[in-house]
Amino acid sequence: MEDRVIASGFTRREFMKASLAGCTLLALSPAVIPAEASAQTKGPFELPPLPYAEDALAPVISARTVGFHYGKHHRGYLDNLNGLVKGTPYEKMSLEEVIRASASGPGQTAVFNNAAQVWNHTFYWNGMKPGGGGKPAGGIGKAIEQAFGSYENFRKEFIAAALGQFGSGWAWLVADGRALKVVKTPNAESPIMQGLRPLLTIDVWEHAYYLDYQNRRKDFVEASLDRLVNWAFVEGGLERAGG
Ligand code: MN
Repeated sequence: MEDRVIASGFTRREFMKASLAGCTLLALSPAVIPAEASAQTKGPFELPPLPYAEDALAPVISARTVGFHYGKHHRGYLDNLNGLVKGTPYEKMSLEEVIRASASGPGQTAVFNNAAQVWNHTFYWNGMKPGGGGKPAGGIGKAIEQAFGSYENFRKEFIAAALGQFGSGWAWLVADGRALKVVKTPNAESPIMQGLRPLLTIDVWEHAYYLDYQNRRKDFVEASLDRLVNWAFVEGGLERAGG
């Protein structure tokens, strides 16, 4: 896998190492954050820049949706998190450590929700790209065929999970050991809490699609799968999972 920079300052290898193997995901130590990015936010956690321009996913996802989703929702979770962790032991932890530590702690729901939503959104943006989607080739294409019988079966199962998530949440392709699975999670919850390794996610909160698709979640999910999935990113995760 080419070790190119996928989001300001951290390479795909570093991102996958952090997200899939370690506990340092998106802790984004100041050393890897360009000065111009770190100047935007105050607090221990940073908002990673989008890996593309706000209008890059149009017309599947409009610049307006990405602008609100990244600039207001994602940033909002980040700002909430930084406020919540101030003066607590969470300040010294990586983002994934915060997620794990707050997941079962009494009274820690707000910390968990905001930390997990920061993680989930960064992972979501990196799993999309302009001109992506469709049936993948290479190792990930083979792995999907082995796991689901065919890409078409995987696509159906992923869409069913996305539509079957009642209310807000996420649809995921994950590695369970070496097996690939489709799962869904409500609200901020992450498959990481079930010991699964995320490979791809699509946000099915209404804020992800309502400006462009209104109530048509299926159209949004289909268009995202068919035209936006960054299969190289998914394959990078698969390699990390040893698949
Ligand atoms: Mn969202």
